[in-house]
Amino acid sequence: MADISWGLRARTLLARAGFRPQHSLGQNFLLDDDVLEHLIDLSGVGPDDHVLEIGPGPGVMTRLLAGRVRRVTAVEIDRALEPVLSEMLSGVENAEVVYRDAMKADLSEFVGGPFRVVANLPYYITADAVLKVLLSGLPVLSLSVMVQREAAERMLSQPGDKNWCLLAATVSYFADAAVLAEIPPEAFEPRPHVASAFLHLDVYREKPVKPRDEALFLKVLAAAFAMRRKTLVNNLKAAFDLDSERAKRIVRSVSEDERVRGEALTLQKLAEISDRIGAL
Ligand code: SAM
Repeated sequence: MADISWGLRARTLLARAGFRPQHSLGQNFLLDDDVLEHLIDLSGVGPDDHVLEIGPGPGVMTRLLAGRVRRVTAVEIDRALEPVLSEMLSGVENAEVVYRDAMKADLSEFVGGPFRVVANLPYYITADAVLKVLLSGLPVLSLSVMVQREAAERMLSQPGDKNWCLLAATVSYFADAAVLAEIPPEAFEPRPHVASAFLHLDVYREKPVKPRDEALFLKVLAAAFAMRRKTLVNNLKAAFDLDSERAKRIVRSVSEDERVRGEALTLQKLAEISDRIGAL
C-alpha cells in the first residue's frame, strides 16, 4: 500500500463528490502525505494511543493516523464530507467518524481513557477548541494542533508580554507549549490568507503551580483578566463579592502594589490568592 498517496486519493474523491470547501467552516485541507506524516511524527503519538481528531475533513490525516495509533475518533461537523470519508476509511477498523459539532458535543462520549488530540483545527474555533479540551477534566495527554500563527503566538505568551491573556494563562497552567513547525499557506488547499503553526501542548502530569482548589483557581484566573483596565482588587471584589478591605488584604499578601492588575502577576501568585479566598 506504500505506493498509494492518500492525498491524491482524497483529491480525486473530493472532485468526484463535487465538494466545494466552505470558508465559514475553516475548510483548508492538508492533502500532502509527506507533510502530514511529518506532523504526525512531531506529535509524538504512538501505537498505544487513542487520538481524538477535531475536523478530519477528507480524512488524509485520519487515514495516516489510523496506521500508527491504536484508535482514532474523528469529529466532523460537515456531513457533505461523508462520502469522501467513508471511502478514505473503508476497511479501516480502528478509525471512526462522528458527525457532530465538536464545540457542542460532550467529549466524554468519544474518549474513555487517556487520549491525545491531533488536528488541523478550523481556525474560527481554535481558542475555544483548545480550552474545551483542557477544561474538560478528561485525561488528555497532549494536543498537537495546526493553528493560525498569531493564535500560537498568543497561546505561548508569558506574563509581561503584550499578548498575555486569559487564554495564554490557562494554557500555561495546564501544559508546556511549543511551536513544532511553521507551515506556509501553500501547503493547504485552498490556501488560507494566513500563516500557520503546528502547536504542541504537552499536558502536565504534575502541574508546576498547585492551587488547593483548581475550580476556584480558574475563577480567580478569569477574574484577573476580566476587566483589564481595572485593578485586581476591583476584579476580585466583583467576582467574589468581597468587601474592599478584604480584597486589598488578599492582594497585599502577594504584591506590594495594592493597585496591581491581575495580568501583572504570575500564576503562582494567583494560585496563592485563590488559596486565600478558599480559606475565607
Ligand atoms: N483535517 C483536515 C485536513 O487537515 O485536511 C481538515 C482540516 S480543516 C482546517 C477543518 C475541518 O474541521 C473541516 O473539515 C471542517 O468541516 C471541520 N469543522 C469545522 N468546524 C467544526 C466543528 N465545530 N466541529 C467539528 N468539525 C468542524
